[in-house]
Amino acid sequence: MTKYFEVTRRDAAARLGKLLLDTHYPTPLILHPGKDSPIVFAGSLWARNILSPDEVDPGKLVILPGKPMPLHARPEIVKEINDSVKQERNHWEKRAGATGQIIQPACPDIPHADMYVIGAARQMENNPRMLLDTVIHIKNNTPPDTALYAPALATPENLALLIYLGIDIVDDILPTIKAYDGIYMMPDAEYRLSDLQVLPCSCRVCSNTSVEDLQEMSAQERGKLVAGHNVNRLLEEKQIAVQHIRGGNLREYVEGKCRSSPWLTALLRLMDQEHVYLEQHTPTYRSVTMYANTSESLDRVEVKRFAGRVHSQYQAPAANILLLLPCSARKPYSISNSHQLFNRATGRNRRALNEVIITSPLGIVPRELELVYPAAHYDIPVTGHWDLEELSWVTGCLVDYLKTNKYSHIIAHVDGAYRDICQSAAETLGLDIIFTAQGSVTSARSLGTLRSTISGIVRDEGYALRKTTDMAKNMLKGIANYQFGRGAGWLLVPDSASIKAPFPKYQVYDDKMQLASLNPRTGTLIPTLEGAKRLLELGTYQIRIDDFVPGGSLLAPGVVDADVNIRPSDQVIVVGEQVLGVGRAMMGGAEMVRSTRGNAVDLRKVMEI
Ligand SMILES: [Zn+2]
Repeated sequence: MTKYFEVTRRDAAARLGKLLLDTHYPTPLILHPGKDSPIVFAGSLWARNILSPDEVDPGKLVILPGKPMPLHARPEIVKEINDSVKQERNHWEKRAGATGQIIQPACPDIPHADMYVIGAARQMENNPRMLLDTVIHIKNNTPPDTALYAPALATPENLALLIYLGIDIVDDILPTIKAYDGIYMMPDAEYRLSDLQVLPCSCRVCSNTSVEDLQEMSAQERGKLVAGHNVNRLLEEKQIAVQHIRGGNLREYVEGKCRSSPWLTALLRLMDQEHVYLEQHTPTYRSVTMYANTSESLDRVEVKRFAGRVHSQYQAPAANILLLLPCSARKPYSISNSHQLFNRATGRNRRALNEVIITSPLGIVPRELELVYPAAHYDIPVTGHWDLEELSWVTGCLVDYLKTNKYSHIIAHVDGAYRDICQSAAETLGLDIIFTAQGSVTSARSLGTLRSTISGIVRDEGYALRKTTDMAKNMLKGIANYQFGRGAGWLLVPDSASIKAPFPKYQVYDDKMQLASLNPRTGTLIPTLEGAKRLLELGTYQIRIDDFVPGGSLLAPGVVDADVNIRPSDQVIVVGEQVLGVGRAMMGGAEMVRSTRGNAVDLRKVMEI
């Protein structure tokens, strides 16, 4: 725990926060080493030029003296050297104020600190695996509300990725050193100053000089000016990253940013393989469109999470007929022109079937989940061409669905790549699929075949049609299971429930009491206190608090225990000795248990029990 750092906003591993020292320093923070820096290194014990505790202002954070080691120092050496400096560090124990500890990649035990410094970080440029493993090692073994500093590593090119990785503090050391080596930095590349004909920048420094002017200067003078430019670009990158964290689209930004260098692209891909690290802090809803513009988009948390929950939590309503449909550019699908035509073609027989929409990058979207984030909130570049990775991913999602949901008749009203996907899934599982489109899925002929095929099956087999009211109930049950886990559908939308309000502003009532309402913007079910009571037996998405009655916000120190599956933006149930509450999580379940600061839940309603 620390009282010197607070996280105010999270987006996957990236965070906005503040260092609470003599004044508040917003993070991500770029340090400029010097006497005004809020963070001071007490010194290297190798050189024995260390500060004494009374030389450091108590309002500053001090990185305790240590013996910096090379990147590949072996764990036993790291331990031996760390043990040898313990005595020196004892002098610092009585000092009031915040402390930082340098952590070697191989360091097995991480001592307490308010901020952790990645040892030998400079040597991790171009070593994405080592950087990622070290950051995850430190994060997994330290409280979530401590800050992480990567010294002498940030450049305008890599800063957004470092922030996305979860680093809170960097410095301007590298842009400054490189400037004196004649390196001119831009957000997407580094140039030798001698290779430039013009300065491709209009910052304060570059507006007032030229390549010719710089060449005529002394090396010292030139280095100072280029350092000014390099640091300007670093500061600008930080501002852009902060804006993207606030806007909820840092992921889209880093998918573009990483293209400038193979090691940054490798870093992003390796991070995606560490799904748990990114997933635990990724919100379940964003207010902005999710753009899937690159091949890495297939691996982003939102895509994997949606597919995972469709497979493991969602339960399809009972039906004998499955209708597979292509996605539409307009969302939710059912308001698009093509889906309106499909609906008209299936008519009342629609009530005898389940509909599943095939799409990239989400895989498959059951009709009941079409409003759920990100099914109604994504956009992709449409060219008509699907690459092999996309085809294989979407086919896999369809195969998984067809393995767990059995139908007597599968109809696919699709063409092009969608048809290839259906055929491939059918071959894999040995299933028969009836294709109803000849060419365009919206042609009169195709729609006519769709209509006659479905009405023929319903008539010949004598399949019953669902009640109209059951269609809405099925949708809400599907969302409840997707959101809270299997079993939630029966509890929050029982068979005896009635659904009020027109699509999609549904409200669920039972015994004249409202249990939940559907937020059409997010596709989220918002339980009332009565709904929360009914969900209690499921045991999921619950937060246990101390014996007190919280107000509008539940702060992390008040949390005793929480479901580890809770993610930021999730609807949660707060349970105390005297109270039951409902609200929206502001941080993950594990983080709210381990944090000593910050708002854990925005409470909507609280009742004393
Ligand atoms: Zn410039």
